Amino acid sequence: MGIEEKLPAGVLLTSVEKLVNWSRKSSVWGATFGLACCAIEMMAAGGPHYDMGRWGMEVFRASPRQADLMIVAGRVSQKMAPVLRQIYDQMAEPRWVLSMGVCASSGGMFNNYAIVQGVDHVVPVDMYLPGCPPRPEMLIDAILKLREKIGHEPLGANGRKMLAAREARGDVP
Ligand code: SF4
Repeated sequence: MGIEEKLPAGVLLTSVEKLVNWSRKSSVWGATFGLACCAIEMMAAGGPHYDMGRWGMEVFRASPRQADLMIVAGRVSQKMAPVLRQIYDQMAEPRWVLSMGVCASSGGMFNNYAIVQGVDHVVPVDMYLPGCPPRPEMLIDAILKLREKIGHEPLGANGRKMLAAREARGDVP
């Protein structure tokens, strides 16, 4: 029987890459930790009112081994930086980092020796979210945009580099 005859019976055509990315983006689990006031908004986003469970994210994981997404919610002190890096290193690939709020992204108002002036000095960041603090809706919006990015990520060790090159060319749909 030819493929054309099977189509009415519900045959689904896709690529391995699309299937893998669909499953990855459908279950992005966050690591459980917060650093400052932004974390309160992050907790609100996980509660029943905003209900991140709608996107397969109802569980924040206590173990980095089970987490896919690190939400850096708040300013990062110099003392906390190595701890944050260790948590990141313990997360399995593929893993993503969302920098939540101006303090995490640039140090914000804490322009002093005690605070890291941008968490991208410690871990690679996939998504920056502005605001002080960003509201739960903004966090959910950033996560949804990150999910779109995950959906287009080429597989393999160099997938992210290839995605960055595609984005630079304006090739991402
Ligand atoms: Fe607190 Fe604002 Fe900094 Fe978030 S961005 S950690 S709310 S001061």
